[in-house]
Amino acid sequence: MLDIIEKIKADLEKAKNLIKDNESLEEFRLKYLSRKGLFSTLFEEFRTLPGSEKGKVGKILNETKNLAQNIFDMLSESLSGNKSDSDEDYSLPGKTFNTGSKHLITQALDDITAIFRKIGFSVYEGTEIEDEFYNFDALNTPDYHPSRDMQDTFYLKGDFEKRYLLRTHTTPGQIHLMKNYKPPIRAIFPGKVFRNEAISARALGMFHQVDGLFVDTNVTFTDLKGTMDFFAKEFFGKGLKTRLRPSYFPFTEPSAEMDVECYLCNSKGCRICKYTGWLEILGCGMVDPSVFDAVNLDPEKYSGFAFGIGLERTLMIRHNIPDIRMFYENDIRFLKQF
Ligand SMILES: [Zn+2]
Repeated sequence: MLDIIEKIKADLEKAKNLIKDNESLEEFRLKYLSRKGLFSTLFEEFRTLPGSEKGKVGKILNETKNLAQNIFDMLSESLSGNKSDSDEDYSLPGKTFNTGSKHLITQALDDITAIFRKIGFSVYEGTEIEDEFYNFDALNTPDYHPSRDMQDTFYLKGDFEKRYLLRTHTTPGQIHLMKNYKPPIRAIFPGKVFRNEAISARALGMFHQVDGLFVDTNVTFTDLKGTMDFFAKEFFGKGLKTRLRPSYFPFTEPSAEMDVECYLCNSKGCRICKYTGWLEILGCGMVDPSVFDAVNLDPEKYSGFAFGIGLERTLMIRHNIPDIRMFYENDIRFLKQF
């Protein structure tokens, strides 16, 4: 049977150069590819072969049939092409092609990564499934903390030694980094996070965060302030003022939130800034000593700062997007604007 197939293969190569019109192409199709054609017969024969031969013969037979199909497709395209060429009206406008572009979220992640790379931060990609140690315990979020509730967190079902969950923030990246690398550590860790929330204009079950960490000896609050200010001005606009307000996070002490001047109303007060003249853009603070304890770093020797940016929220502010669901509806009219 192999001999026959080899012979057909040679015939096919010859036929390729001989077919010049639709009539001979149709003959070709009838001879090789139709229901009563050569390949149908060969495949029937193939079924009766002993199992030991089937592997080798099957492979060559399939290859040869694909070759015939490709020759047919290629010839039928070029023959029909020739025909329409002569009918073509050269005064018609040219065809345009729609090109894709990066999604707004991807663009923003690229921007943020580029900004932090300029000042020596590397990028760390964590995992979306964490256990309670990384997501909560090591980040000073004790058992009774409300965010550990089933109402807020997606826990994985199954019989595991530990309780696994979809990370609720990208902050566990801090713990992975400090457990695996020696300071100085300077990295951002962007990614998806998951919350068990009712979906609304302000909330989704999945969104993106970019966390960051800088740990070394003698890192001070001034370093934090300078770094956050640099980011805000690069991302939102060079001339804008920023300010820090005291806040609370379990894993930083002291903690702060950074605001940037509302450039939508020139700080006069508008609906987006809730008439304060300021837009809240990120949370940050000095790494809490209890976090250093959890990863066995000496808080007497090392200090550091951490920060977290909610990506969709920040973009909603930057582009005045009223509903968080718009990011993921794939409406081309929305996507085209960016
Ligand atoms: Zn405003």
